[in-house]
Amino acid sequence: MKILVPVKRVVDYNVKVRVKADGSDVDIANVKMSMNPFDEIAVEEATRLKEAGMATEIVAVSCGVAQCQDVIRTAMAIGADRGIHVLCDQPLEPLAVAKMLKALAEKESAQLVILGKQAIDDDANQTGQMLAALWGVPQATFASKVEISGEQMTVTREIDGGLEKLSMQLPAVVTTDLRLNEPRYVTLPNIMKAKKKTIDQLSPADLGVDVTPRLKQLKVQDPPSRKAGIKVSDVATLVDKLRNEAKVI
Ligand code: AMP
Repeated sequence: MKILVPVKRVVDYNVKVRVKADGSDVDIANVKMSMNPFDEIAVEEATRLKEAGMATEIVAVSCGVAQCQDVIRTAMAIGADRGIHVLCDQPLEPLAVAKMLKALAEKESAQLVILGKQAIDDDANQTGQMLAALWGVPQATFASKVEISGEQMTVTREIDGGLEKLSMQLPAVVTTDLRLNEPRYVTLPNIMKAKKKTIDQLSPADLGVDVTPRLKQLKVQDPPSRKAGIKVSDVATLVDKLRNEAKVI
């Protein structure tokens, strides 16, 4: 079974992003970039499936600028066997990425595609769902447990009222939730080994996909700044302030 793992290069989760002065976008010049955290979980899950003898090959895919190769190398240091980089300098929307992933899933005859549930930059939460629809296969989003037996997959999802279990036939699409696993630390020997693995480079045109944006970003602005809080000396003062100043009780 071949597993495809799409990995997106995003602003590192520790970075506090700033809005550009003209309000056109967030400023990501000279900002630390990393693999989307949900994608690390996806690579870890694929690696565990391979270690358990369920998968034969893991292919990490990233679509975007030249530096996306860094996140493919990280995926290889975790456990991916090889990489595919779809080089594209213009911003990519989920639909364009989903179309390219569909073309790759078919080209590679993948049985499983494991994506992050959402990219922490745009928070779109769309690519996995769109891929499943375009590819015409079942999907299980927000997975907290994945079990495979032959051609059958059972996925547990955490939902509001408890746990939901879905059973489906492969090929299929899974998106990862936070509690699926805890990704391993990447070791130096594995980083060195990853340097020797191959990354094939393609263009969107090679996959027959037109990536022209369909959405227009009108404006980006900071959330309203919060007023500073105060400390109250006792519960009675707190209740008094809530009742007479904030007027919420
Ligand atoms: P999104 O729908 O943008 O929130 O992204 C969901 C998931 O789709 C991510 O966690 C990645 O696994 C995958 N993905 C989105 N954009 C890209 C990209 N440019 N390259 C590779 N994978 C991507």
